[in-house]
Order: sequence, then structure tokens, then C-alpha cells
Amino acid sequence: MTLFVCRDVTLFVRRDVKAPRYLSDKEQRAYLATAREAPLCREHREPAIQRTVLKPGPNIGRKFWVCPRPNGAVGDPTARCNFFQWVI
Ligand SMILES: [Zn+2]
Repeated sequence: MTLFVCRDVTLFVRRDVKAPRYLSDKEQRAYLATAREAPLCREHREPAIQRTVLKPGPNIGRKFWVCPRPNGAVGDPTARCNFFQWVI
């Protein structure tokens, strides 16, 4: 029996990543476009989604990564975790 060892397991898996259904169509496209390079959120280990600061202020237009999950009740482990990272 031949044992295949894939050195790039993480990349391989993430190439097949599917956008979560709870995202809107626009968010799903954004998610898929960036999922391969996205950092993984800390709680769920899922590719983060990229968002842009829309609030007027010093960071307007700046991009950042957050957990891709929807907001939920406080303490709900399936809801958005507090992962946040600026896009460099
Ligand atoms: Zn998360």
C-alpha cells in the first residue's frame, strides 16, 4: 500500500474551502477571494473574512480580518469570536 504524504495539507484543504451559507452573496464572494490567504480565527480555526473600516476616522478604508461567523448571543461558542487582525 502506498502512503501519500501531502506536505501542503493546509493549503490543499483551504483551496477547497466553501463559503459559509450565513454570509450574503457579496460576502461569500469576498470570502472565497481571500480565504486562501486569510488567517484562521482563533476560536473556530476558520478562514477569517476581510472587511473594510467604513466609520469616518483615522482608520477609514483600512482593511481587517474578523471571524467569518455571524454575531450571536454572548457566550455562544458557534457565534463570532473576537478574532481581529489588521491586513498588512
Ligand atoms: Zn471564529
